[in-house]
Amino acid sequence: MSDRRDLVILGGGLVGMTLALAAARRGLSSHVIDKATPAELTAEGTDGRASAISTASWNLFCNIGLAQPLEPLGCPITSIAVTDGMKPGRIDFQPKADEGTLGRMFANRDIRLALFEAARGRPLIALHSGVEPLSRDRGEHAVAVTLDDGRMLEGSLLVGAEGRQSPTRADAGLVSAKWDYSHRAFVTAITHEKPHGGVAWEVFFPAGPLALLPLNDLPDGRHRSAVVWTVDESDANGVAALPDAVFVGEIAARLEGIFGKIELAAPRMGYPLSFHHAGRIVDQRLVLVGDAAHGMHPIAGQGLNLGLRDVGVLVECLSEGLRLGLDPGDAQVLARYERWRSLDSLTVMAATDAIVRLFGVPGKLPSAVRRLGMAAVQRSGWLKTFFMNEARGMSGDLPELLRA
Ligand SMILES: Cc1cc2nc3c(=O)[nH]c(=O)nc-3n(C[C@H](O)[C@H](O)[C@H](O)COP(=O)(O)OP(=O)(O)OC[C@H]3O[C@@H](n4cnc5c(N)ncnc54)[C@H](O)[C@@H]3O)c2cc1C
Repeated sequence: MSDRRDLVILGGGLVGMTLALAAARRGLSSHVIDKATPAELTAEGTDGRASAISTASWNLFCNIGLAQPLEPLGCPITSIAVTDGMKPGRIDFQPKADEGTLGRMFANRDIRLALFEAARGRPLIALHSGVEPLSRDRGEHAVAVTLDDGRMLEGSLLVGAEGRQSPTRADAGLVSAKWDYSHRAFVTAITHEKPHGGVAWEVFFPAGPLALLPLNDLPDGRHRSAVVWTVDESDANGVAALPDAVFVGEIAARLEGIFGKIELAAPRMGYPLSFHHAGRIVDQRLVLVGDAAHGMHPIAGQGLNLGLRDVGVLVECLSEGLRLGLDPGDAQVLARYERWRSLDSLTVMAATDAIVRLFGVPGKLPSAVRRLGMAAVQRSGWLKTFFMNEARGMSGDLPELLRA
């Protein structure tokens, strides 16, 4: 007997799994297909990244039942310090005591574990892992995916959530604007002598930014931060080959002692960085979400947050459509999703790209001009509040699932 579901979600990563859970909250059923198994996706060393989760994204996690497992694991970001190579003239984004934090840091592995656990045993979510689609068919009334184990899964709407290289996006001929930053981000964690005080540091160098993001202390009391060190691709193989002690020495030299003595606390992983933005994110009975729709430089910590906004908006469009008697694959429903998401994602991506380029210009004069601009932002209460609201993800037209 055919198990036709509302959604056929291709990709059970952070965004695809969040979508399945959020849709289930509104009574929508899904097939989720991932070529990797949950054990592979949550194995130590598969994804060593930590993500800055904005206030709006945290609201979504709470609204789909992840507050309890995740709350103790998140480290609040109480302020953000932005500097041009540790020179004088930094900006401090420090909300007032009653304004709440600027987000929370979570290990991606912890988020994945919480998502898989929350989905386990849910009749509305059928997870098919360790399999890949051989074909995707989108007809006028239904979609069907044939898997490489011979099974066929049917639904009303196909969702491309397979990340940057989405084969579903390519299959549908949805074209992206894209470029390579020729940067590689090295991700790891360090323990350090001095407490981080909840501060997220963004230190810009012409060769690429270095981000230090606060994590919870280890059980033995050692202070800990996540590191994202971006280097030019031409230097990346050399950096990858550095012995651990030299790698840590390079980071310590750039931090100029703000954390005291530091030690490496996790394996190093490298991620090549690029930009892509699909001009269209819907087609007949198809939508794209997360990195399948847009991928950006991680400096502003917004990629996953944008993907989670896609989830909140899509679920709201689908459930309102259902209330009006519209099928999940209805063209009007999908057009509303595309209208709602397009401007927001393009604005965030363009701003992030501009920051990367602005701080990438080498030389003393550009640095002096940048620091003058930063000093102006530092003095302007209005601009700082604007940027902090953006970091929290609480501005603009928010779907219900992203509100507290
Ligand atoms: C160094 C770095 C740091 C970052 N830090 C932050 C941050 O602090 N905050 C933030 O918001 N964002 C951050 N991001 C961005 C964020 O990690 C991504 O936006 C997010 O992981 C995208 O999730 P996704 O589920 O869309 O895609 P993915 O995580 O790529 O998941 C795609 C899933 O699809 C599966 N898949 C792929 N192909 C197929 C196929 N053919 N068939 C079936 N399944 C398939 C994969 O196995 C995977 O599980 C960072 C990114 C990088 C590189």
